[in-house]
Formats: sequence, C-alpha cells, structure tokens
Amino acid sequence: MKQRNPNFENLEPSYLFPQIRAKAEAFAKHNPEQKLLNFGIGDVSLPLVPVIVEALEKASKEMGTEEGFHGYGPEMGYPELNEKISEVFYHKKISSEEIFVSDGAKCDIARLINLFGHKPTIGVQNPCYPAIADSVRILSGAQKLQLIPCDPTTGIPLDLENLTCDILIIVNPNNPTGHLLSRKTLESIVQIAREKKILLIYDGAYREFISQPGYPRSIFDIEGSLDCAIEIGSLSKSAGFTGLRLGWVAMSRHLHYKKETTPVLDDYKRLIQTTFNGASYLSQKAALAALSPEGHTQTKRQIHQYLQRTELLRQGLETFGLMTFGGKQSPFIWARLAGKTLSSWDLFHVFLENLGWITTPGSGFGSAGEGFVRFSGFAKPKQIQEALDQMKTNHHIRRFL
Ligand code: PLP
Repeated sequence: MKQRNPNFENLEPSYLFPQIRAKAEAFAKHNPEQKLLNFGIGDVSLPLVPVIVEALEKASKEMGTEEGFHGYGPEMGYPELNEKISEVFYHKKISSEEIFVSDGAKCDIARLINLFGHKPTIGVQNPCYPAIADSVRILSGAQKLQLIPCDPTTGIPLDLENLTCDILIIVNPNNPTGHLLSRKTLESIVQIAREKKILLIYDGAYREFISQPGYPRSIFDIEGSLDCAIEIGSLSKSAGFTGLRLGWVAMSRHLHYKKETTPVLDDYKRLIQTTFNGASYLSQKAALAALSPEGHTQTKRQIHQYLQRTELLRQGLETFGLMTFGGKQSPFIWARLAGKTLSSWDLFHVFLENLGWITTPGSGFGSAGEGFVRFSGFAKPKQIQEALDQMKTNHHIRRFL
C-alpha cells in the first residue's frame, strides 16, 4: 500500500473557495426564494475585449491550416511574447531570456516552491492569498511555513528586522487586504532581504490596478532587487485571462544561490523544460494582443470599471457601518465590524442568511484575517446596485454591525 504524503494530514480538508461554494449552494437549496449576490471569489466578470477575441479567432483559424499549425512551443514562451513582456512590464530591465511564460501565477507559485525543494523555510504574509500558504504546506510541509505577523488591516510585515525565513513571499497589491505597498516599504523589504540573504518572491498579479503615481508596479523598480527577487505576473485579473490562462515568472540571471555561482535561472529553466510544455499558442497570441497599444487601451477601460464598482461598494459598506480597508488600488475590499465582535465565519453567515451575500471569510486567509471578510469588486454592477439598495432598506442587519 502506498503511503499518503503526510503533509496532507495537516491541511484543512478543502481549499477555501470550494468551502464557500458548498456553503452557498447548501443555503440556496434550502432558501430557493433568496437571490444570491456573489462578492466572494475574485474571478473577473467582464468579457474578453475585442482585440483579444480577434487574436484568438485568427490564431485558431491558423491552427486549422497546414502552414499555421503549431504543436509544442518553446517551454519558456514564444520569443515575441517574452520580448513584449520584457518591454511592457520591465522596460527591458529584465530581458526576454529572463522571462518564463506560463499558464498562470497559481501554478508558478507551486513551481517556484518546488524549485527550492523542502529545505528552506518560507515566510508568507498573514493574512495572504490561501494558495500560497497551502502550496507550502503541501510541497514543503507545514513546519517549513512561517506565517509572518502583519498588520491585519494591510498585510504589511510588522517586524522586518527579525525575519528568519529563507524565502519571503510578498503579494502587492495585496490579496485579501487590497493594500498597496509604498516605495519606502518595498525599499525596506529589499534592503532586509539583501542583508539577511532572503530570497523574495513578489506576486504582482494585481499590478495593473495601481494608478497612484509614485507607487512601484514591479519589485524590479526597487534598486538592489535584481539579485534578491523573483517576480510573478499574470494577465488573469488585468485582461480577463482567468479562463484563458497566462502568467509569467521574471528573474534576473544575477540572482544566485547563497553559496554558489549557478544562476537560479538555470535551474528554473531546467525545471520548466522537464515539467512544463509551454502555455498554449492561442493564449500566447491573445496575450500579445492584450499587450498591444489597442489591447492596453481596451483592458485599461475594464480595470477602470472594476475600480469604479469597487469604490461604489466600498462607500456603501462604510455607510452601512462596516470599517473598510483597501479597495482603492485593488479590486478587493477588506472589511470588519468596528467592535470586532463576530468571527469571520459568523459574519459570512450573517451576510449570507440575511442578505444573500456571498463574501469570503477573512480567517480563510490566515489567523490574522479573523474578524474580517473580503468583498470582491469584480462583482457585476447589477449585483452591486442590488446590494446598495438592500443596505438602504435592511436596517435590522445593523444590530449585527
Ligand atoms: N496570485 C494572487 C495574489 C491571486 O490573488 C491569484 C488569484 O486570485 C493568483 C495569483 C492566481 O492567478 P492566476 O489566475 O494567474 O493563476
């Protein structure tokens, strides 16, 4: 009989979002008359923009011809796309050969953890996107996971000076808190990483939601980061690729292991060549369209719409009596009661059972998220409007708030 990987024994039996879905489905079954408004999962809701659809149509027609058919592509991505990512996101500071195009950021997190094996301790913000902590628990073992104490309203690590992990994973703008780190904070993180020889993994999946001038969009905008950081990017939230799938990992060849001269990039290339067969030709063509000037204009418009929706919802929640955080440079609103008297799951149930709202309980993002719930501004405008109307009429809910 094969032995079970013992790391599974320390996990919650189900990942956070399926748990929420199951609870919402059970509620809907017993309350068929209650309309549900989904502010839970952070999936996008707007359709692909025209320039991406045209590129997909063209690429799929090409694939149906003998001359245009594409089988396995380069594992790191078609050079044209790597070039484009290097230019658009990194102004060539990271070259096309230092970019690994992938099928999305979630898989990249797991691939990077695998790269370093089970020896290093991995620091993760508390609260944080649950796929990160769970991937560490599964791939390295819970004993290798360090939940870094953070300000629960922002996700900013509280005691950088005393970090003891080998690898630190930072998400900016943060999911779930919706907070955007300042240049000064990022500079301190890079400085500490350099001093303590900590490898930084920077997840910038929401970078396109940053509009505030003076705030860095990439860790490579911070001096000294090239030889201590790896960046993960994604088109999921900025160009609607959650179903199409496209992400990337960017790392400089100047990033080395502590005691060796081998660039980390060489090993990552070896891992990718062995375990990944490249992102699909169609999604790479779609990505090229998304990163074209026309694609940029069209997708920017959508991001603006999501941010407007988020702000409308945030204002409504504040007026309703909740304390809100984030939601300005991010599609996520992090909210809690002023007195913090209900647990995250209790608050989730109050909203579900009284208003039909599906939210995400903050404790699912780590112990520091207890008492919070996360609202996603990716919700459809009609749902946001309905929630705003409900808040005006359901005064009885205030007794919970
Ligand atoms: N990183 C963060 C911080 C996320 O919130 C998400 C998705 O919600 C991902 C990565 C996953 O992105 P992708 O769809 O590219 O796998």
